[in-house]
Amino acid sequence: MNIQNYINGNFQDPVLDNWIDNYNPSNGEVYGQLPNSTKEDVDNAYSAARSAFPDWSQTTLEARSRILLKISELLEAKLQDFAEAESKDNGKPVSLAKTIDIPRAASNFRFFANAITQFASESHESVGQNAINYTLRQPIGVVGCISPWNLPLYLFSWKIAPAIAAGNCVVAKPSEVTPMTAFLLGQVCTEAGLPKGVLNIVHGLGTTTGQAIVEHPDIKAISFTGGTTTGARIAKVAAPMFKKLSLELGGKNPNIIFADCDYDEMLATTVRSSFANQGQICLCGSRIFVETFIYEKFKNDFVQSVKQLKVGHPSEPETNIGALVSKQHLEKVKAYIDIAKQENGTVLCGGNIVKINGYENGYYLEPTVIEVSSDDCRVNQEEIFGPVVTIMPFKTEHEVLQMANKVKYGLSATLWTNNLKRTMHLSNMLEAGIVWVNTWLMRDLRTPFGGVKDSGVGREGGFEALRFFTEAKNVCIKY
Ligand code: NDP
Repeated sequence: MNIQNYINGNFQDPVLDNWIDNYNPSNGEVYGQLPNSTKEDVDNAYSAARSAFPDWSQTTLEARSRILLKISELLEAKLQDFAEAESKDNGKPVSLAKTIDIPRAASNFRFFANAITQFASESHESVGQNAINYTLRQPIGVVGCISPWNLPLYLFSWKIAPAIAAGNCVVAKPSEVTPMTAFLLGQVCTEAGLPKGVLNIVHGLGTTTGQAIVEHPDIKAISFTGGTTTGARIAKVAAPMFKKLSLELGGKNPNIIFADCDYDEMLATTVRSSFANQGQICLCGSRIFVETFIYEKFKNDFVQSVKQLKVGHPSEPETNIGALVSKQHLEKVKAYIDIAKQENGTVLCGGNIVKINGYENGYYLEPTVIEVSSDDCRVNQEEIFGPVVTIMPFKTEHEVLQMANKVKYGLSATLWTNNLKRTMHLSNMLEAGIVWVNTWLMRDLRTPFGGVKDSGVGREGGFEALRFFTEAKNVCIKY
């Protein structure tokens, strides 16, 4: 199936008629093409967005909200089609797309449909000076949204929903590796009555299409989720133009397990936090630290549980681990397993490429657990972003805190303990934007989301997202 750009409410081919093959990771076959868009396509998308902005920014909040709710309802009505499309494009189990990805995309639109009606600005009375200040929150104009391949529609909509709710018009690019559900979203937006030009979706490569969005002098804000290296490149281009930037980048998240935790719940959740979505979630706990008292028991139980996970075709209902997103990514993840062995890591289970009957060219890898003797090794420091976790023991709270913080990333951290004092101390001291205690990936969309250090700049979620997509203007009136 071929994909087209969605510009000014119309589906259209790229100006230069260049195309990119779209692969199905479950069988390694090309199943369609997408536009290899260039600056000309981005310019057209910008012009459409610019023309739509005066009316959209003056559309009442209630009317905007109604359209966002309609998009959400349509996504729910088309759940099966969207889940199958996401799975085919990305390799994730259909069951996962059906329970996590697409429902969350629908929630994103529903959440911001409501949030925009509650978004208030402040006023300050300058007492004794006969003056009052009030703050307007005005849409920026045309904004750029660029998203990655791991949770395609989930993260694409996490940016687009607040951007348009706040009255902006958007030029957006999904990952070139997973463009399908963004393409389908265009159809949904038209059906929901979103005015032409409010959302424009341009497909193509990061280094051409993505770069053209970032370089466009009149796209004044960029919301980006992706790798840390790409984020740094974008920041360098955007800085001289003083663009507003939100950067959600990589992670190498610690999962810290104390002996006093609720063991069974911890074990089941740790299997999930290690391997959900083939370990391709920026929030996965890829470094597991276990208190020495329970280390051997945990090691055995964890490895036994991981061995039960079924690697299989994404459409099979019993599949736990689907295909990795691309051949290139599979090779990168596999190379890290070889690096671990060279660094004296012990592969406790997994480590091999899997050939599934009938789908021998798909990109499958066993879920892999590596025991490491030092937290300094490369597999413990660098983001692998696949079904690979490391485990190692620790003796004291102080020691584990040092190890947890000794990476360049700071996205999330998970803590398993029933000790309140320890919980409070470590939650304060862990260098992360998000700390989960006795749970993982529990999300309330009102809360701030983002990382510290090389994991990013800025926060998404709730009013933080609406603040990012608006400019504050203070008005001071003397009376
Ligand atoms: P990339 O950084 O490679 O790509 C992200 C997006 O940016 C893609 O749409 C990509 O296009 C585009 N892009 C690439 N180069 C440029 C450029 N020079 N200018 C503008 N756009 C560009 O990340 P991945 O897609 O590989 O995603 C995986 C990464 O995303 C991991 O590091 C992961 O941790 C991170 N991530 C972070 C999250 C967070 O919330 N902090 C959440 C999810 C993932 P193309 O696909 O064509 O290259």
